[in-house]
Amino acid sequence: QTAEIGVSGLATMGRNLARNLARHGHAVALHNRTEKRTRDLAENFADEGTFVPASSAEEFVQSLERPRRIILMVPAGKATDAVIDEFTPLLEQGDVIIDAGNAHYADTRRREAALRDQGLNFVGMGVSGGEEGALNGPSIMPGGPAEAYDSLGPLLEDISAKVDGEPCCTHIGEDGAGHFVKMVHNGIEYADMQLIAEAYDLLRQGLGMDPASIADTFTTWNQGRLDSYLIEITSQVLAHTDASSGKPFVDVVADEAEQKGTGRWTVQAALDLGVPVTGIAEATFARSLSGNRTLRDAARGLPGVSGARLEGAAAEGFADDIEQALYASKIVAYAQGFNEIQAGAEEYGWSIDLGKVASIWRGGCIIRAKFLNEITAAYSREPNLTTLLTDTSFADAIGGAQDSWRRVVASAAQLGIPTPGFSSALAYYDGIRADRLPAALVQGQRDFFGAHSYRRVDREGTFHTAWATDDRAESEA
Ligand code: NDP
Repeated sequence: QTAEIGVSGLATMGRNLARNLARHGHAVALHNRTEKRTRDLAENFADEGTFVPASSAEEFVQSLERPRRIILMVPAGKATDAVIDEFTPLLEQGDVIIDAGNAHYADTRRREAALRDQGLNFVGMGVSGGEEGALNGPSIMPGGPAEAYDSLGPLLEDISAKVDGEPCCTHIGEDGAGHFVKMVHNGIEYADMQLIAEAYDLLRQGLGMDPASIADTFTTWNQGRLDSYLIEITSQVLAHTDASSGKPFVDVVADEAEQKGTGRWTVQAALDLGVPVTGIAEATFARSLSGNRTLRDAARGLPGVSGARLEGAAAEGFADDIEQALYASKIVAYAQGFNEIQAGAEEYGWSIDLGKVASIWRGGCIIRAKFLNEITAAYSREPNLTTLLTDTSFADAIGGAQDSWRRVVASAAQLGIPTPGFSSALAYYDGIRADRLPAALVQGQRDFFGAHSYRRVDREGTFHTAWATDDRAESEA
C-alpha cells in the first residue's frame, strides 16, 4: 500500500495530526522510534481512515508515494536532528521533510540550507492549536521553498482549521519564516494572556469583584470586540469551582506561571532585530517574576499600598475603563508582534503577507479572535503600514479608549496593583507618538562619558563636545 504522506513521531501531536490526515481521506504512513506507538495508532483508529504502519525508517520511506512527504513531530533540538539524519540517506531528490515541531527558526534555516544542498526540500512548519487543534484543524504556518508548498499545500489546507470557508494555512515564506511566525504567534499569546490577567486583577482587587462575577464580565466582553478564544476560556476558568476545597479554582492554583520558551525566543529575536516588543517582553518577565519564589519571599512586606480599592463614584465605570484599556493594550501588543515579523522578513529576505498571517490565525490557534479581521483589513488598506497603530480603525479605537486607558494605569499605580502590560503598552504608545524624546539627553550623557558623539537637529554631521575642557567646545566628530 502506498501512502500519500507520512508522520514520524507519534506522541500526542503526531498521532492527532496523522488521524486528522486519515480522517480527510489521505492514506498516512506511520513511524515512531518505539514501534508500539505505531501499532497502537494503526489498530485503535483503523476505522478513521487508511494507516500504513512501518516498523523501520526504511519501510516507512518505501511506503510513500513520490515526491515523499514526511512530517516529523518530535521534540525540537537534538531529537529533530537525529530523526532528520536517520531519514536523509533514504530519501531522493525532491522529497520533502516537514518539521512540525516547535523548532527555533535559526535551526530551521540551518537545516533547510543543509538539506537543500542534498537536493531535498525542508519545510519548517509552525502548528498551533495544541492536541485539540492537531486533531480537528490547527492553524498551520509552513515555511520552506515555495515549490515544496505546491505539492504540500493542498494536503495541509485540507486538514487546517477553516474560517469563513478559508483554510488557516498559507505558505509563509522561505526557510525559517514559518517557525519565525509561529514563534511570534506564541509571543503575542503571552502578551494577550498577561493583559487579560491584569484586567482580572484590576476587577478583583481594584473593584473587589469575585471570580464568578468577573467570569460574567468576561462573557459580556466576549460578545463585543474582544471576542476571542482566550477571553472565552478565561471566563470558564474563573467560573470554575475547585471540587476538593469548594473555593474558586483560581484561588487554589499556585500563582507561579511557567513557560516553555517560545516567549523568551520571541523577545531574544526582537532584541537582536532592534524591535521594541514591550508587551511580549513584559509578559515573559511577569511569568519569571511570578515564578521567582526567593525574590518574592524576600520582598514580601515591603512598604506599599495593599488592599485598597476604588469606591463610590471612583468605581463607577471602572470596569468599562478596564475593557477599553485591555483593547488598547492588545492593539499595541499585536502591532509590536507584527513589527517583529516585518523586521524578521527584512533581515532574512522573506516576503511575508502580514494580512494573510492575521487571517490564518483566526482559527485553530490559541490567539484566534474576531479582532484579527481588523488586522487583515488594515494591511489590505495599506500593505506597507509602518505600524498597525496608524491604521484608521486602530487609531480611532485607541483615540476612543485612551482616557480610560490612562485612568486605569494611573489608578493601578495608586492602588499598588501591578500592570506591566497595560502600563508598558501606554508608555510605548506615548513614546512612539512623542515629538521629542529624552533620548537627546541620553545622547548627551553618552558623549560626555564615552565620546560617543551626537547628531544635531539644526545641521548635518556628527559632533563631539570636549566635556573635560573649560570651554566645552564642539567639534565635528
Ligand atoms: P514530544 O515532544 O513529547 O515527543 C515525543 C515523540 O518524539 C515520541 O514519538 C518520541 O518517540 C519521539 N522522539 C523523542 N526523541 C526522539 C529521538 N531522539 N529520536 C526519535 N524520536 C524521538 O511529543 P509531542 O507530541 O508533545 O510534541 C511533538 C512536537 O510538537 C514538539 O516539537 C513540540 O514542541 C510540539 N508541540 C506543539 C504543540 C502545539 O500546540 N503546536 C503542543 C505540543 C507540542 P518515542 O515514542 O520512541 O519516545
